[in-house]
Amino acid sequence: MPTELLFRQDAYLKETPATVEAVNERGGIVLDRTIFYATGGGQPGDAGHLRRADGNLIAIGTTIYDPEDKSRVLHVPLEGQPAPAPGEAVTAILDWERRFKRMRIHTALHLLSVVLPYPVTGGSIGDGDGRLDFDIPEGGLDKAELAEKLNVLVARNADVTERWITDAELDANPGLVKTMSVKPPRGSGRVRLVAIGDIDLQPCGGTHVRNTAEIGLVAVTDIEKKGKQNRRVRIALA
Ligand SMILES: [Zn+2]
Repeated sequence: MPTELLFRQDAYLKETPATVEAVNERGGIVLDRTIFYATGGGQPGDAGHLRRADGNLIAIGTTIYDPEDKSRVLHVPLEGQPAPAPGEAVTAILDWERRFKRMRIHTALHLLSVVLPYPVTGGSIGDGDGRLDFDIPEGGLDKAELAEKLNVLVARNADVTERWITDAELDANPGLVKTMSVKPPRGSGRVRLVAIGDIDLQPCGGTHVRNTAEIGLVAVTDIEKKGKQNRRVRIALA
């Protein structure tokens, strides 16, 4: 059975009841449903805990898609944690503080791709910071100027919403795809589009804040030259 990805429907869920479906030979725990984001699109997998019926906790270090069956999510426990039994009822509890920072940075990176309307060749999201790599023909980028433009967009208090289109509709609108290195999540015949007010629209399977106001003040911490046509722009929550 594919894992039900609750974080796709509601990125603000902090805990959920779930049932253990399987534990693989390396200890990875499959649940029937999860609020833990699985590593992908430059965003690290979530950490947190599984609380058992007796109140004891199993600490989860990260979350990934099962390499043997990408429709399943593996909750990877820290070393030395007890293994739950298949069929066991647990409560999955997210390390929300960390995830929320990632949601704020992730949403800010969407805005950065508006401030710098160039092809994105890479990116990554950390806990309170993140980066995008741009294919930019010439340099001349200024940190303070970029930060100012970014914070103007943040201050527009724009709602972040999603809608779904078919693979065929996406193929007919290739301009929607800004990030060449991260393929939009497809395969189910439909693609999730994330809209930030009328500021930005792009396919994305990640976790976002509901309104840009939640991002707060953002700083541009570094602009690095990575090859002739590549600029790596780093941002951080101020
Ligand atoms: Zn996104």
